[in-house]
Amino acid sequence: MEKLQNYIDGVLIAPKSGKYIDNYNPSIGKAYSLIPDSDEEDVQLAVEAANKAFPSWSTMRKEDRSKWMMKLADLLEERLEQFALAESIDNGKPLWLSRSVDIPRAVSNLRFFATGILHFPSEAHNMDGHAINYTLRDPVGVVGCISPWNLPLYLFTWKVAPALAAGCCVVSKPSEITPMTAYMLSQLCAEIGFPKGVFNILHGLGSKVGSAIVSHPDIKAISFTGGTATGKAIASVAAPMFKKMSLELGGKNPVVIFSDCNWDKMMKTTLDSSFSNQGEICLCGSRIMVEKNVYEKFRDEFVQKTKALVVGPPLDEKTKLGAIVSKPHFEKILSYIEIAKQEGGKILCGGKAVKMSGEHSEGWYIEPTVIEGLPQNCRTNKEEIFGPVVTIMPFETEEEAIEFANGTEYGLTSMLWTENLTRTHKMAAQFKSGIVWVNCWLLRDLRTPFGGMKNSGVGREGGWEALRFFTEPKNVCVKL
Ligand code: NDP
Repeated sequence: MEKLQNYIDGVLIAPKSGKYIDNYNPSIGKAYSLIPDSDEEDVQLAVEAANKAFPSWSTMRKEDRSKWMMKLADLLEERLEQFALAESIDNGKPLWLSRSVDIPRAVSNLRFFATGILHFPSEAHNMDGHAINYTLRDPVGVVGCISPWNLPLYLFTWKVAPALAAGCCVVSKPSEITPMTAYMLSQLCAEIGFPKGVFNILHGLGSKVGSAIVSHPDIKAISFTGGTATGKAIASVAAPMFKKMSLELGGKNPVVIFSDCNWDKMMKTTLDSSFSNQGEICLCGSRIMVEKNVYEKFRDEFVQKTKALVVGPPLDEKTKLGAIVSKPHFEKILSYIEIAKQEGGKILCGGKAVKMSGEHSEGWYIEPTVIEGLPQNCRTNKEEIFGPVVTIMPFETEEEAIEFANGTEYGLTSMLWTENLTRTHKMAAQFKSGIVWVNCWLLRDLRTPFGGMKNSGVGREGGWEALRFFTEPKNVCVKL
């Protein structure tokens, strides 16, 4: 089996301990490669390398830093097909999706921040001619970037790119469940001779190598995307050390549909926002609220269209939903479907694992599932399932819809479907979420602030927000 390696100080190397853990292909339910079981010794090596590289990387002309990142982006784009295939095998997502979304977006992330840094402004405040203030922004130092398994390279580059562009050196860890494309990215770095020590990639368990990154005293900021419980554990270590933190956490996103919406557009997009990437996107809408006068019409059409979605092997071009990323996650999703039944939910379609044939017979697949009849205030409607499972429920008034929509501990995103302009602005202002999509979903302008309210996170990524996070502002006040 292929053995992945860590990337430290510009070199691909084995973990100090010599230990490895299995990496699974979820479409066949079997291990297919081994990844380093890294620990605090590997983190120490990476931090030393990053500290050594920091003075030259942070003072390098930003145009030159940008060139390095563009070079990496160009090579990644050249190898797009190879990366897309690897992402699908590692994660279980359909190949067409990693080819059209995940890898192109990883390329865009690198290019966006490589060029963004060239235009990143700082502020000046003139005190009526008596004094002038200006703000310097210096890179924070060595930073830790920890990412999840659902959009592996896409979310990994989303945090690593602004850190590198800002002049920070990075000690990063992709999810242990989907390490392959980050490993392949480290091979590209080695191939182009990316300045050594600037970008270090460690593989292994969150509880071991992840927590060693978080607790290392020389790592000055932590950018984390993952579950809310993990975010809480990370904050409890990083906060007393006064580290800067950006936490992008879980969601339980509402979709609010009014009868005056563009029906066909809404139906098509709501199928996507429910089941894309097997529902394993933090931005998926999992609680669908429909105005009462069209509830039955919506339910019948939505269920009929959901039943037509093809669940299949990720590399099959007909597949709409691929495999669930891991066995524990597969079991977690099925256990939530049982909870929904116990809570009195009616399964309108799906609700079961799918048994494939041949080499995929041991893979982890679940039917897209639609549930109705559950109260707003039950576990199924409050807890993040993060799979192809949605609930639908009727509402009568705007006030009721807002109350339902805001009725969880999460606040990542909300989707609204209406052609009424006044209602749009009124309701958009009332959603308690970091993002509101009106008549669309997953439409991303990388300049906009990205992140959640309440237990969905702390801080924002994207555009200047990310570059501000990875820099320390220093005000200089000059008396004239
Ligand atoms: P986890 O929180 O389990 O893991 C995220 C990352 O943190 C992984 O690399 C993990 O390593 C690592 N980790 C785990 N424990 C620790 C620790 N104690 N210290 C440091 N690092 C640790 O999330 P998942 O990977 O399961 O991802 C799914 C979650 O991510 C969902 O809740 C989803 O909503 C959220 N998410 C949020 C997004 C947002 O932008 N708000 C976007 C995408 C996902 P390992 O894999 O080895 O456990």
